[in-house]
Amino acid sequence: MPKPTGPITFEYGVGTVGHQHCEACGTRWRYVWHKPSRGAGARSWATIVVVVLLIIAVIGAVVLWQRSRADSHPAAWDPKVAPIAAEVAALRGLSFEHPVTVNYLPVAAFNKKVTSTPEELKKASVEISQATALMRAAGLIGAEVNLADAVNTAQAADTIAFYDPDSKQIFVRGAGPFTVETRVTLAHELTHVLQDQHFDLPKLQKRAADSDTGSSDALTALVEGDATRVEQQYLSRQSAAEQRNYVKLSLATAGDANKATTALPAIVDTYFNAPYVYGPQVIGVLEARGGNAAVNAALTGATPSTRIYLDPTAVNDAAQPPPVPALKTGEEKVESTSKNDDEFDNFTLYLMLASRIDLPSALRAADSYKAGSEVVYTRGTNTCFRAAITGVSPAATAYLASAMQRWVRTVPAAKVDSTKGAVVFHSCDPRRTAVTPDNTTIVNATRLAANREALVATLVKQHVPSRLAVCVSRVLTQQPDVRNAILAGDALATPSPQILSETATAGTACRANPLAGLPR
Ligand SMILES: [Zn+2]
Repeated sequence: MPKPTGPITFEYGVGTVGHQHCEACGTRWRYVWHKPSRGAGARSWATIVVVVLLIIAVIGAVVLWQRSRADSHPAAWDPKVAPIAAEVAALRGLSFEHPVTVNYLPVAAFNKKVTSTPEELKKASVEISQATALMRAAGLIGAEVNLADAVNTAQAADTIAFYDPDSKQIFVRGAGPFTVETRVTLAHELTHVLQDQHFDLPKLQKRAADSDTGSSDALTALVEGDATRVEQQYLSRQSAAEQRNYVKLSLATAGDANKATTALPAIVDTYFNAPYVYGPQVIGVLEARGGNAAVNAALTGATPSTRIYLDPTAVNDAAQPPPVPALKTGEEKVESTSKNDDEFDNFTLYLMLASRIDLPSALRAADSYKAGSEVVYTRGTNTCFRAAITGVSPAATAYLASAMQRWVRTVPAAKVDSTKGAVVFHSCDPRRTAVTPDNTTIVNATRLAANREALVATLVKQHVPSRLAVCVSRVLTQQPDVRNAILAGDALATPSPQILSETATAGTACRANPLAGLPR
C-alpha cells in the first residue's frame, strides 16, 4: 500500500510508522502501514489460544513442565550487555536484582527453541484439534488450515529474542555481529528481566489466567508494550547514524519475517502480533498520566481485558461477564482449564464480525460490547461453543443482537439462541465447509483498530481528557472518508477540508455527549 507522506520512523513491534496531522485537534498521531512483524515472547501457544477461544493452555503446561527449572545466574553482566542494562534500569526506574545470562544461538538452534517439536504437538493433539475446531466454528480459519504448523511458522518467523522467566535467561536469534539491532533487542528483553525480578512474570500470568474479567493476552499487551516503550527510548538515545542503521537492519528482519509468513492466514499473525501492536498505545497513555509508577500499577493491578486493544484508556474497565450460557440436551461440556477459557473477549468478537460482515459494523459492535462469557461443548462428535455477550447500554445490546443475527447467517452452523438480557448464540465446527476469511479483511480490521487506538493515545498525551479522546476518535473513525484514508494509508497527512470539518464536528458532538457514536 502507498506510504503516508509524513516523516517516517521504524518502531519495534509496530513496524514502519508515519506521522499524521490533525489540525483541528491540534495534534499529530502515528500512522501504521507496515505489517507488524516482530514478536519477542516465550513460546506462545498459550497466547494465541487463550484469546482464540480456549483450551490449549494445556500445551503451555506441558512445555513448562518439560523446561529446566534451574535458576542460576552469573555474578556479573557480560561486558557487552552491561552498559545496555544500566541504561534500561535508568529508563525503567527499576534496578536489577542480579545479572542474567544472555545466550546467542545460531538461527536453527534458536528456531528449535521457539517452536514445538512433533512429539510436543502429538502429545497435545487433542487440544490442538479442539482449538482448530473452535476457530473454524468462530469463522476465523478454513478447513485447509493446519493451526499447529501455522503457529510454529509464525513463532519461528516473528521471534528474534526472548526472555525465559523459568530459566531466567535471555535467548537471542543469531550469533553474528553485535549490531545496534541486537542492542535494541536486548533493551527490550532486559525490560522483561526487570519486570520479572520486580513483579514475577509467571505469577502475573497465572493471575491473568485465573481472572474472571481480564485476559491473559491483554496482560501480555501490557508486558510487551512496556518493553517496547523502553526499547524505543533506548533507540532514541543512539546517534543519528546508528538509528538509520537500525531502521535498515530492522526493515530487513521484518521483510524476512513477512516472506516467511505470507502463506499463513492473516488471523494467526494478527493474534500473534496483537500485544505488540496494541500494547504500546496503552502503555503510552499510562506513561503520560503517571510515568513508570502508573505502568507498574497496571502490571500488578487487576488484569485488563482485550478492550484495551480498542480503547487504550480502558485499563481498569474490565467488566463482570454474564453467566456462562446453559447447555441443552445432548450437549456435553468440555472442561475449561482456566477462568480465561470461560470468557468471550472483545477482540475475538471484533475479528469474527469483521471477517464476515462489514468492518464499520464490526467496530461499532466491538464498541458496544461490555463483557462476554462462553462454554465449549461437544454434540456427538462435533465441537461447538455458545457465548453470551452484553452491551454497555440496552441500545448497545440491541445493536450486538442485530450484528450477531447478521453474523450467524454467514457461517454454516450457527444460530442466535436468545436476545433477552444477554445476546446468546452458538456456532459449531463446519469442518470441511469452513472458509478462511480474506487476509485483506483481517489486515484492514487490525489496521483500523490500531490507528484509532493510536489516535486516542496521541490525544491523551496532548492532555485531552480520556473520555473525550475516546469519543472523538470513535466518531471520527466512523466517517467513511477518514476510515478509507486510514485503510488506504495516503490521505491523512494533508487532511482534506472535509476531514478537518468532521474533526471539529466530532469534538463538538463529544463535548456535548461523551457517548456520541455509540448506538442509542
Ligand atoms: Zn517482549
